[in-house]
Amino acid sequence: MALMPVAEAMQRVLAGADPLPVETVALEDALGRVLAADIAALRTQPPSAVSAMDGYAVRAADVAQVPVTLKLIGEVAAGHPFEGTVGPEQAARIFTGGMMPDGADCVVIQEVTERKGDAVVIGKPGTAGRNVRRQGIDFTEGAVLLRKGRHLNDRDLMLAAAMNHPALRVYRRPRVAVLGTGDELVPPGSKPGPGEIVYSNGFALLALAQTEGAGTLDLGIARDELDDITAAVRRARDWGADVLVTSGGASVGEHDLVQRALAAEGLALSFWRVALRPGRPMMHGKLGAMQVLGVPGNPVSSYVCAFLFLVPLIRRLAGRSDAERTPEPARLGRDLPANDERADYLRATLHPGPDGLVATPVPAQDSSLMAPLARANCLVIREPHAPAASAGSPCVILKLAL
Ligand code: AMP
Ligand code: MG
Repeated sequence: MALMPVAEAMQRVLAGADPLPVETVALEDALGRVLAADIAALRTQPPSAVSAMDGYAVRAADVAQVPVTLKLIGEVAAGHPFEGTVGPEQAARIFTGGMMPDGADCVVIQEVTERKGDAVVIGKPGTAGRNVRRQGIDFTEGAVLLRKGRHLNDRDLMLAAAMNHPALRVYRRPRVAVLGTGDELVPPGSKPGPGEIVYSNGFALLALAQTEGAGTLDLGIARDELDDITAAVRRARDWGADVLVTSGGASVGEHDLVQRALAAEGLALSFWRVALRPGRPMMHGKLGAMQVLGVPGNPVSSYVCAFLFLVPLIRRLAGRSDAERTPEPARLGRDLPANDERADYLRATLHPGPDGLVATPVPAQDSSLMAPLARANCLVIREPHAPAASAGSPCVILKLAL
């Protein structure tokens, strides 16, 4: 079976993934959620012209020539409009956010004035509109300011509140179950016996999913036995996982039982070998409505595969319009040899350089090495059959989460 190109594998992973059902959440719970509908302003902001400064609301025509003395006829604070009209040679004391009284079209800041009883002396000329925030300068009622598919950030929540939305329609969070497999694996904090190692993959995979806003289920470690793996797959399904991520047991060795267990449960396999390094024995399929990503056991492979495929899958299920990431340009920090038929995702460190970012692949690229992976902050993408490249030449990268 030929290796599948990364782009085609990505297409297949995303093809059957539609956004999950819609629910309503309170604004204060909406951070990181994804809008399921366009959001239009329910009001105009500011609803009427207001002062941008503390000072005096006046008629610009009165303060074209200074100094001039104006009669004080009232006071306007935010939330306390002044009912009267500012007539010729009159002024109203006004504070930031105060509604501009009728007649006034200019605010003179208090620093250039002198108060004299119920009059004020204006020391600097003003013009119409000066220090005034006109009605609707921020937005007007009906304007669509946040679009369906938007991954909501902190400023979006501020804006949604200002638009007068106490709650938002968002897609349900994806549910991601993570399973490790291997007789050699023991949890961190154990005393590993001969031949045993500490289970590590799942911690990064769960964290990746959580960072993407998914709810997670830690299925722990299954033995290399069909029954044990099958039981875990069923737990994932019973929990209502949208995605099951397995790690290990994904190649063709004697103990690689994950695919067999999944097949027996009814997996519709979409692919299981990708032209990718690290991560060739990566598998994808669907078990009923549940997406299944089988990532390799080698820790770096498991991480890179999840980073490349699980993250966009979660984003797509979550309804994000920006599910797929766009690689960014950088320059190579060292020479690289020509690449073979597999796309390479080299662990690298990123530093600012004279012509932008410089990405230097770490020397040790073996897919079992977690220490260099933790040091890296980006992946340098090398296309299949890319020619040798020297330090300083352009490359493309994907940044890893900090
Ligand atoms: P496998 O894909 O099961 O053949 O595993 C490939 C390599 O990755 C083996 O050296 C395993 O011991 C190791 N490995 C598999 N799963 C994990 C895991 N969850 N944490 C750390 N190492 C693992
Ligand atoms: Mg194994």
